[in-house]
Amino acid sequence: MRLAGKVALVTGGGTGIGAAVVRTFTRQGASVVVTGRRRDTLAEIARETGAVAVAGDTSDRDDVERAVAEAVRTFGGLDVVVGNAGVGFGGSAVDATDSDWNRTIEVNLTGSFLLARAAVPAMLERGAGSIVLVSSVAALVGATDSAAYLASKTGMLGLVRSLAVDYGPSGIRANAVCPGWVRTPMADVEMDDLANRHGVSRDEAYTLATSDVPLRRPAEPEEIATCCLFLASDESSIVTGATLVADGGATVADVGTLAWSGGPIRGTI
Ligand code: NAP
Repeated sequence: MRLAGKVALVTGGGTGIGAAVVRTFTRQGASVVVTGRRRDTLAEIARETGAVAVAGDTSDRDDVERAVAEAVRTFGGLDVVVGNAGVGFGGSAVDATDSDWNRTIEVNLTGSFLLARAAVPAMLERGAGSIVLVSSVAALVGATDSAAYLASKTGMLGLVRSLAVDYGPSGIRANAVCPGWVRTPMADVEMDDLANRHGVSRDEAYTLATSDVPLRRPAEPEEIATCCLFLASDESSIVTGATLVADGGATVADVGTLAWSGGPIRGTI
């Protein structure tokens, strides 16, 4: 059991990557508090895994502090937080509305900040801790119509480095995971849009979106959860301020050479 005796808080854990993290962490012996806004999905994952559900908005300071307090009250401390809750409103810098920009920054970036700020004192009490933020390859490379999302996910990497430098001397580590496409409800929405444009199925859209990715497929949520597990556990005891890229190789492919790869011609299956 790689997290035996550890207490973890996972945000946005009712679905997708977060739910896989809750399943993985509880299987590995952690006591887990799981947060999110929808009570039904939280109740389901809590029933399945034994995690404690605390409904709330990750961009609301009181809700975040309440979730941390619940972990400390119920399990006696806090060792790990996974800042996974996220939203992805689209739009280029000109097209993004004020409210989409603000909400994306509030949830993805400010939410991560509020989580870290609430968790650090409890980790200082323990004399150790691991903060894992689920960012994205959108923090590493450009993508179309995603100005707010790219800015928020890139900011999370800066926050991770800041936490690593400020709290490393106290034994607290902070790292980021940057997934590429992962089969989750969030990605399904994007794939349905792509599927509509090309008149194909959702599965075919996933294939199309990953046709130039070296591993030629999206990740399953469990594959991102095991990256979080590594960073949460003592196995990564010397790793801090790092970015673990979990993208099937998407960001190492040189787009200027793809025309030679013999893969599908853009826009077709
Ligand atoms: P998902 O299933 O939609 O998960 C997002 C979770 O965040 C939901 O459970 C949602 O629960 C929660 N959430 C959203 N806004 C929240 C808020 N204001 N307060 C609390 N919880 C909130 O999609 P996912 O793909 O697993 O996303 C998880 C993380 O991975 C996100 O940060 C996303 O940006 C990142 N990511 C995903 C992909 C991908 O291809 N899927 C790629 C790179 C990065 P409620 O709606 O119930 O609050």
